[in-house]
Amino acid sequence: MDLHSGLPYWIIKNPLYNYFNPLNISIKTDVLIIGSGITGALVAHELCSAGIACTVVDKRSIATGSSAASTSQLQYEIDVPLCQMADQLGTDRAVPAYLASLQSISDLETLFKTTGVNAYFERVPSLYLASNKQGLKLIEREYEIRTEYKLPVSYFDKKHLKNQFNISAPGALYNNRSAQMDCYAAAIGLLKHHMEANNLQLFSHTEIVSWEERPRSYLFKASNGKTISCKYVVIAAGFEAGKFLPKDVMDLQSTYALVSQPIQPNQFWKERCLIWETREPYFYIRSTQDNRIIIGGGDEDFKDPVRRDKLLRRKIASLEKQFHKLFPEIPFVTDMAWCGTFSSTKDGLPYIGTWPGKERMFFALGYGGNGITFSMIAAQMIRNRLTGQKDAREDIFGFERAK
Ligand SMILES: Cc1cc2nc3c(=O)[nH]c(=O)nc-3n(C[C@H](O)[C@H](O)[C@H](O)COP(=O)(O)OP(=O)(O)OC[C@H]3O[C@@H](n4cnc5c(N)ncnc54)[C@H](O)[C@@H]3O)c2cc1C
Repeated sequence: MDLHSGLPYWIIKNPLYNYFNPLNISIKTDVLIIGSGITGALVAHELCSAGIACTVVDKRSIATGSSAASTSQLQYEIDVPLCQMADQLGTDRAVPAYLASLQSISDLETLFKTTGVNAYFERVPSLYLASNKQGLKLIEREYEIRTEYKLPVSYFDKKHLKNQFNISAPGALYNNRSAQMDCYAAAIGLLKHHMEANNLQLFSHTEIVSWEERPRSYLFKASNGKTISCKYVVIAAGFEAGKFLPKDVMDLQSTYALVSQPIQPNQFWKERCLIWETREPYFYIRSTQDNRIIIGGGDEDFKDPVRRDKLLRRKIASLEKQFHKLFPEIPFVTDMAWCGTFSSTKDGLPYIGTWPGKERMFFALGYGGNGITFSMIAAQMIRNRLTGQKDAREDIFGFERAK
């Protein structure tokens, strides 16, 4: 699958991880992790930290799948607003899903501190703008339910937004528990860390093409015929995980992102918060540590890369226009732009765990706008299963709902 095209900023910004190590002998490992993006790297981190021997394989250069194209915002807010998720799934599932998402941002922060991996993680507030009257009604309902369940949230009215942020919008929800990072740097940093500290094995340019399930093991075959025998496998293959699944659980879409030339630090909007909105497809912005602005959005409901790429110029113009409308006084000149495949699920929640009846094949599928926070949750849940610890999150994110 063509996961992205154009010029993703992170691949330019970071030094090339020039790692070429295809599997050229058949091996045995306790846990095989398929995928070296942020999900595979976080799973490897959790397993290595628990003393479990594992091996990561990737068919591409390391972490150059979707993780290299991500705008890497970390928000506890899931694609489906809590008030709507509560209507759909009940508060007993929706509220723990939101709480898990909130907790995962702190867990990522701790993980980068303890490993010393520089993921360019930084806390920034989040501002969720009502795009119109309907959006205002939505955020008012959302404010009520989030307050009731003690999720961090403040309500800003039109006047406050104008006075404090110089933004014209009917209202907004604000919280100071969000963050942003560079998930490409994070994935590479974590993998390198565990190769040195815990003998993690990493094979690039190794595509898994088939597998056999045996009574107590799996035998995975790479495209060059070499095999990997393992007790357990973790599918961290991102939007290409479909081939390992008995049934599709996600809808694939296309999305767009641009990064500006650097601006002066004093030209940024207040607190450099993450900004997004109630309209769909939404438009969102963040800043970078080298004083650029990233804009994302313009999602389309198809995955065909040729159609997706054809729209790139038009999307650049439309996203720039939306930015100029929001902040006419802030300069924005596009420096790089890219597009990518993206995915969502019907209920806004990821799929994590085993498919019923296949107890040794774990899926870590963080589909949706919170892919990275979901990857953190997936890594912890899989570690817990492998170390025999109960995890209440299985009832929320598991595959029972996919049957
Ligand atoms: C433009 C864009 C913006 C985004 N913004 C955000 C955001 O702000 N916040 C957020 O949380 N999320 C965001 N996301 C989503 C987030 O980037 C993804 O959820 C995350 O990167 C997925 O990581 P992953 O490791 O699961 O997948 P990937 O990074 O794609 O890694 C999977 C790897 O598996 C490998 N693989 C697949 N099949 C095989 C096989 N058969 N054999 C061997 N290897 C295989 C691939 O080569 C790939 O490298 C965004 C995504 C895009 C495209």
